[in-house]
This record gives sequence, C-alpha cells and structure tokens, in this order.
Amino acid sequence: MSTYTRIKGTKDIFGEEVKYWEYIENTAKKLFKIYGYKEIRTPLIEKTELFSRGIGQETDIVQKEMYTFDDKKGRSLTLRPEGTASVARAYIENSLITFGSPQKLFYMGPMFRYEKPQAGRYREFYQIGAEIFGTDHPLADAELITFVYDFFNKLKLSNFKVKINNIGTFESREKYKEVLKTYYQPLLPNLCEDCQRRFNTNIMRLLDCKIDVEAAKNAPSILDYLDEESREHFENLQKYLKAYNVPFQVDPKIVRGLDYYTKTAFEVEHSDLGEQAVVAGGGRYDDLVEQLGGPKTPGVGFAIGIERVIEALKKENVEVESESEIDVYIAFQGEKGEMAAVTLSKELRKKGINTFLNISKRNLSGQFKHANRLNAKYVVVIGEEEISRDIVTIKNMKSGEQTQIERNWVSEIIVEKLREE
Ligand code: ATP
Ligand code: MG
Repeated sequence: MSTYTRIKGTKDIFGEEVKYWEYIENTAKKLFKIYGYKEIRTPLIEKTELFSRGIGQETDIVQKEMYTFDDKKGRSLTLRPEGTASVARAYIENSLITFGSPQKLFYMGPMFRYEKPQAGRYREFYQIGAEIFGTDHPLADAELITFVYDFFNKLKLSNFKVKINNIGTFESREKYKEVLKTYYQPLLPNLCEDCQRRFNTNIMRLLDCKIDVEAAKNAPSILDYLDEESREHFENLQKYLKAYNVPFQVDPKIVRGLDYYTKTAFEVEHSDLGEQAVVAGGGRYDDLVEQLGGPKTPGVGFAIGIERVIEALKKENVEVESESEIDVYIAFQGEKGEMAAVTLSKELRKKGINTFLNISKRNLSGQFKHANRLNAKYVVVIGEEEISRDIVTIKNMKSGEQTQIERNWVSEIIVEKLREE
C-alpha cells in the first residue's frame, strides 16, 4: 500500500463507477431545465456561524457532524454539511430577488459530515438539491415533490416511495412539543441514549428514532395539532400532488433532522437499501432567510443523496449506458506515420468522433493491446506499409474485420461506419 491513503469516509470515483455519476448528473441537469431551474454554485467553505444559525444549534449536524477549523487568522470556518444554508446566504448576499420572484435554483456537489462511515453514509458525499425562494404557495411544494418523483422515474427506478408530512409553523409546533413531552416522559428511562438526549433538545426527533420504533408508533400525531394555515397548506399540497399523478403516503413521523423546516416535510425512501433508505429529503423553510438576516422570504427545497441513488440503481439492476466510449484508436509507426496520425486525429475530432491517438512509444502490437484495454470500436493503423501506399488499415475490433482504404477518405468512411452501427 502507498504511504498516502484516502481519508476515512471519502472515496475515489473512477472506471465503471463514473457511468453512474454521469447518468444521474445528466438526467438531473436535463430535468432541472425542463422544470425551469437555474444553477447556483456556492463555496465549499463558509463561516461556521452560517450553519449553526441556519441549520440550528441543537441539530445532529451542528452538534456532532461538522468539519470545523480555524483559518490562519483564527476565523472559524466549516466545510458545508448541506446546501440550503449556503444557497439562502447567497440569495440574500447577491440580492437574487432582483432577478424575479419566485426564484428556482439547483445545485450539485460534495457535502461534508463527520459521521460513522458505513453503507450509504460517507464523510464526503454528494447531493443534488433545489430551492424555491419567494412563494408560500403549496403549488411550489407540489411541483418540487413532483420533480423528485419524475427524476427517480427518469432514472428508471421503481422501488421508491414518496412520504409527506406537515410539521406546522414554529408556534403550532410548540404546543405539540409539550404534548409529546407528556407522552414520552414516563417512557424516558427505557429509551435509547439518543432519545434521552434529544428529549430536552429536539423532542420531535424521537419520532424517527430507528431504535425506539414502538414508542414512536403510539405517539400523538402532529397532524392533530396543526394550525389552520398549515392544515390548509397540507390539504392543498395533496390536491396538487394528485393532479400531478404523484403517488404519496402521509406519514406523521417524518420530522427531518434540520431545525429550519416549517409546514411541509417529505422523504423518498427506497425499499432495497436497508438502514440508509432515505434517498431524498426536503421541506419548507419559511423563516430561514429572515433568520439569516434577509427579508422575510418563504422557501422550499430538497436534497437527493447521489451515493444512495447509485446503490438503488445497482440493486434494481438498471442498465446505465456509458457515454464516453472510444470510437477510434489511432495506431502508428515511424515518423511519417506519426505526422499522418496527428493530422488524422485533428480531422476526426473536428467531426466529433471520440478519438484516442497513441501517445506512447509502444510498437504496433502494444498499441493494439492498449486499444483493446480501452474498448475502442475501431483501430486505424498508419504503419510503414500504409505510408508508402498512402492508405490506412481500419480494423473493427468487435468482428476482427480489416479493410484498407485511401488515406483521404478515412474520416468520411469512419463516420459512415459509426452511423451504420
Ligand atoms: P440521515 O437520516 O440518513 O442521516 P439526513 O436527514 O441527515 O439523513 P439530509 O440532511 O436531509 O439527510 O440530506 C439529504 C440526503 O442526503 C439524505 O436523504 C441522504 O440521501 C443523503 N445523505 C445525508 N447524509 C449522508 C451521508 N453521510 N452519506 C451519504 N449520503 C448522505
Ligand atoms: Mg444525518
């Protein structure tokens, strides 16, 4: 093993694996355009305060999971653990409201959380996310959830389920929290460590505890304590989802781990993933922008975990086409062959053909082996004999068939052959 190894919980992505990343990212980008979203890219590091303020002091992320360090001037910085706080910060700082309201933004990229690495859980992981700022219309929530549903369908996944809930406004939630406390108080001595800690700091998280499932099952439902506005919002959301033909399930146990959610909360679960089954999560956050010092601006968003989506694609045996195949490998011999090969590579690439020109000092048979390793469809050979007769040899690597043609016609003929495939 080399002296240098990856940091625990991170990964190198290469080879066959890249196909999945391209497939997911390309599908998302296309679909975001179809839905009218614009991309936003924010820095990977931010002031720590943005996250402690935005995500919430008592959340697991802020309490235990952040990569926080002091820079050389002693300022506390943090590698972003999620996207929403950064996008909200950027929205305020750049007055994005001047580009029209509501704004629909999407992002893709790595997030960092210090968690126990395991299947579906990394310390550096990738999310695809979207945010809508400037509308509290439930149609926005519905459209967002429809996007996520559409996205998983476009990826050709089937074993997933959309679950929705409404966790009310901050005010209505206070009342519910009291009711929950009364319910959980007598059970507390028998609950897990996390539940005992969260009882005082974040009582609603007890509902999605993976250990004390029984206790949560009989807990009072938030839906019985909703304020009028939230109730109406939730009813309308369901009406719109039905109009969009998105199947969903109401699950009052969905609370999400972040403090900033109001009203809508939702998750997408994949049934083949075991413990880490949630492939996407999101919700409404009508107070976040104001909490971060901006004008009162409602918002709603989601984040999809790419690694878990890849796992789901593998579990469902979805065929993922590689987009970066090599059409032509150009092999050559001798100085004149080299010059002719350079010219040909230029010509083929101009025509948009995926071309790999030999750039090593190997002999012809070595170059053929290389072309084989790269899975090239054709090899064009420009050796000494070819130069002397002003021709090239084209070999179809699949059938083994070889043809010799005049050098001037190579690119036309290759285009033709590729088209016929
Ligand atoms: P979990 O309950 O699994 O910890 P979460 O509530 O912390 O998830 P969010 O912050 O809502 O997750 O992030 C959205 C999505 O990002 C998750 O549904 C999941 O697919 C993915 N995700 C979150 N944390 C990780 C991680 N450490 N490694 C890989 N994917 C992750
Ligand atoms: Mg988490």
